[in-house]
Amino acid sequence: MGTLRCVTLDLDDTLWDHRRAQAEALRLIASESLPDIRVDTFVDRFHYHNKILWAQYDAGEVDVGTVKEQRFERALRDVGSTSHDATAIGEDYLQRYGRLPYLRPGAREVLDVLAGQVLVGCVTDGFTEVQHLKLETTQIARYFDFVLTSEEVGVTKPDPAMYAAAAAAAGCPLDEIVHVGDSLEKDIVGAVACGMRAAWVPHPEMPSWEVSDPAPDWVLSTLYELPVVLGLESAQR
Ligand SMILES: [Mg+2]
Repeated sequence: MGTLRCVTLDLDDTLWDHRRAQAEALRLIASESLPDIRVDTFVDRFHYHNKILWAQYDAGEVDVGTVKEQRFERALRDVGSTSHDATAIGEDYLQRYGRLPYLRPGAREVLDVLAGQVLVGCVTDGFTEVQHLKLETTQIARYFDFVLTSEEVGVTKPDPAMYAAAAAAAGCPLDEIVHVGDSLEKDIVGAVACGMRAAWVPHPEMPSWEVSDPAPDWVLSTLYELPVVLGLESAQR
């Protein structure tokens, strides 16, 4: 096991509360731009199509633009709306969603402790422009030595190429990096399989709490525990 040189963190539902922001942005869009539809049904259909499209994107079957457009196109069609511009609504949604300032508990405090002691990277699946918008809105962009999005790298986690890109950006071997994330499949199995160590911080609304194989090196109830398990807390306190 190498020394600790770099900590990479997932963004959505690890540092930033994607679930909360997505729910709020969808309701805002529905109430302001789609007054003639049933909001709950629309939100349900959005989730249904969004999940399918992201799985197709992960498998390399569709591109980013298709995900952005089709999830709204299909959800609107399902609720019987044919008169709306799904592309414009999709863009409006992303702008509102990315500007919601919902950090997960401890995110800023932990980044503040890590920065300066180790290299700090953000390794995130998502649209580059939107992920950077979240970092700017929440004023945490300054803590990162590098930010890698799946759109830039061309693959999504847990593809080993995503973690290889992180090691290249950090300029250190994989066993000197600890990756932190909420997804067992994407963050924990992906990073551990590459030779990184990994800390799992489940989102409280996560449906399953069964630990993966390979297992994470650490299971944290909140991000506040991260500097403690990494032995980094004392340098700043
Ligand atoms: Mg995540």
